Order: sequence, then C-alpha cells, then structure tokens
Amino acid sequence: MNFDLTDEQELLRRTVSEFAVTRVLPLAEELDREQRFPYELVAELAELGLMGIPIPEEYGGAGADTVSYAIAIEELTRIDSSVAITVAAHTSLGTMPIYLFGTEEQKQEWLPRLASGQGLAAFGLTEPSSGSDAAAIRTRAELKDGSWVVNGSKMFITNAGTDITECVTITALTGEGETSNIIVPNRTPGYEISPPMHKLGWRASDTRELAFKDCAVPERNLLGPRGQGFHQFMEILDGGRISVAAMGVGLAQGAYDLALAYAKERQQFGRPIATFQAIQFALADMATEIDAGRQLVYRAAWLKDRGKPFGLAAAQAKLYTGLLSNRAVNASLQIHGGYGFMDEFPISRLYRDQKILEIGEGTNEVQRMVIAKHLGL
Ligand SMILES: Cc1cc2nc3c(=O)[nH]c(=O)nc-3n(C[C@H](O)[C@H](O)[C@H](O)COP(=O)(O)OP(=O)(O)OC[C@H]3O[C@@H](n4cnc5c(N)ncnc54)[C@H](O)[C@@H]3O)c2cc1C
Repeated sequence: MNFDLTDEQELLRRTVSEFAVTRVLPLAEELDREQRFPYELVAELAELGLMGIPIPEEYGGAGADTVSYAIAIEELTRIDSSVAITVAAHTSLGTMPIYLFGTEEQKQEWLPRLASGQGLAAFGLTEPSSGSDAAAIRTRAELKDGSWVVNGSKMFITNAGTDITECVTITALTGEGETSNIIVPNRTPGYEISPPMHKLGWRASDTRELAFKDCAVPERNLLGPRGQGFHQFMEILDGGRISVAAMGVGLAQGAYDLALAYAKERQQFGRPIATFQAIQFALADMATEIDAGRQLVYRAAWLKDRGKPFGLAAAQAKLYTGLLSNRAVNASLQIHGGYGFMDEFPISRLYRDQKILEIGEGTNEVQRMVIAKHLGL
C-alpha cells in the first residue's frame, strides 16, 4: 500500500491551490453576491490546462489521472464551490460522455475545444418530473429525414446557458423502452434555454431549464450505439460522483480552515476561543472526518485509474463526504458565532454552497440505494 501522491499530483495541487487563493478568492464573494458566471476565471483555468484534466492530450486535455482531477476539484472547492462545479460539470458530465462513448469523428469534432476550455459542455439527464428516478424521463427523439427530432424538457442543467457553452448531451427516449444520448449543439433551432435559475448556493454557476420543441439534431450526433443511453449515463454518474465527493472534502477543508483561523483570533473570556476544549474537540472531529473522507475519494479515483470497479467506492465517497461537509460547515459556522451568519464572512457562503452536495448527482438516499445494491440487497 502506498499513500504518497506522485510529484505530478503534488505539483497540480500546489498549482490549483495557488490559483484558487490568488485568483478565485478575491472574486468569490462578489461573484456569489452578483450571481455572475466567472468567465474571467474559466479563461484562466483554460490557460492553465485545468478544463480537461483527465482527457488525453491528443484531444486537447491534460492527460492526467482521476486522482489528479479529484485533487484539483478539492482545491478549487476549498475556496469556491461555484468555480469548482463549473469545472467539474464541464469535465465529468459535459466532456467525458463524448470522450468515453463518442466515435472518433465526434471526438475530433467536439473534444479539442471542450478539453482545452475554449468552450463549455453540459449534460442533461434530469427532467421536471424525473430526478432520482432517472429511468422515467419523457423527452423523446424521433428519427426523421436524417435528423433526431427532439421534444421535451430538462431541469437544473449546469453550464447549459453560458455564452461559451457549445453543447448539451441529453438523454432521450429513442423508441419504446429505448434510451439514447444525443449531443445537441447550442443555438439549434427549437432548443430554448431559460434565464439563469436563482439558487441558495453555487450562485455564480450556471443552472438552466431546457426546452426542446421539434428540435432537429443531425443523426450523426447520437452518442454511441442506439439504446445504450441508460448504461452510458450510469457510468457517467459513477465517475461524476468522484468529483462531487472531492467537492465535499474540499468544502469541509475550507470550512475547517476558516474555523481554525477564526478560533485562534477570536477572544472571549479573556482568551482565544481556540483554547476552549469544546472548540478544540469540534476542530479535532472535523480534521479526523476530513482525513477519512479524503481517503475514500482518492481510493475511488485510484480504483477508476486502475480500471477496477469503482461504482461502490464512488457512491460511498459521495455519501460520506456529503454528510461530512454538512457537519463541517455547521460546526465551522457555530465556531464563528453571529459573525458567521453575516455575508461578509466566507463561511456563510460555504454554508449555503454545501447543501447541494447531498442532492446533485444522486441524493444521499440514492447513494444508499446504490450502495445497498452493491451489497446484494
Ligand atoms: C444546482 C443544481 C445543479 C444540477 N445540475 C444538473 C446537471 O448538470 N445535469 C442533470 O442532469 N441534473 C442536474 N441536477 C439535478 C440533480 O441531479 C437532481 O436534483 C437530483 O438527482 C435529485 O432529483 P430531484 O431534484 O428531482 O429530486 P427527487 O428525485 O424528486 O427527490 C426528492 C426527495 O425524495 C427522495 N427520494 C426519491 N426517490 C427515493 C427513494 N426511492 N427512496 C428514498 N428516497 C427517495 C430524494 O432522495 C429526495 O430527498 C442539478 C440540480 C441542482 C439543484
């Protein structure tokens, strides 16, 4: 067994951490308050090669492993979740399906711009009446005169409506009991994107409702063999869970960092509150759980990198880090007292950004269902 990170992984952590602290941190509060998409930061992330970390270099990515990708997402989330989810959704949900299931022609058409971060991509599975029960989607695509004619709608789709979004891969019924994924280019006639949705957290990230009305997409935009949509999105979600779990660790670490610094500085009863055992125990619990969560995330990523089954490990990491980050932001805000409830204190943003980690890419209950299935139940 070896717990050492490679030199490349350590270097990536330092690079992303420095970027997060020097470039993201000064803007995070303003972007959140104004609910403004971080175009300037996405452009810089693209220059650093961070918009396609696990995509091979031949397609414009960085060609790094999943552990490296998880580390990068963790370090971004430590400072700001909106920027982190923009990168994670673009990479795991937007770009990865095309890399994993696309034909060589589709990869050549889409990946160089997406993996290099010149354009963004989204993945549309959720519908207004189909969330956890993803198999119950109603969006239909009918093959007519060389086009897939799409009718239906999608809900809560990350990155779908930015000025630089190039496409959304949607899951649609292409026949009775037959599900397929189709790449829909933005600005296709009949494809309408709602204004940005207003949210409790992840406020600088882009979330949209999508409507398809007789939207004709070229037949060649079908992803992989017809009817493989269900298997494809299950695989995509397994991988995506590693990055959301990395967000849980990063968010918990960020909340811990803030609590530790505040506890050392804040004086009550004539001494720093960090000298009270109750505060020390809260910090000790946080530090311990963060370490445990990080090991779960890296293990899931490590399994994926070795081509081993990782679905159970990813669901466990996602569930545990969702719960862990919930406890961490709560404890950290408590340590901040009334100041933590004020917008000027970053912990209030981290607190709001946390809850979605227990909902997106499968709720806690869905993770438990996945885990139970792996247990043979
Ligand atoms: C900010 C944001 C960004 C998102 N980005 C994307 C995206 O990019 N692409 C995309 O496709 N989707 C996206 N989603 C959708 C997200 O994945 C869903 O919200 C999530 O899967 C839950 O679905 P739902 O909201 O319909 O809740 P529901 O499925 O309606 O669940 C409601 C509650 O019932 C519980 N529940 C449901 N079924 C069961 C059961 N069998 N047993 C026990 N409890 C159950 C759930 O756990 C939950 O607590 C995003 C959502 C948000 C809020």
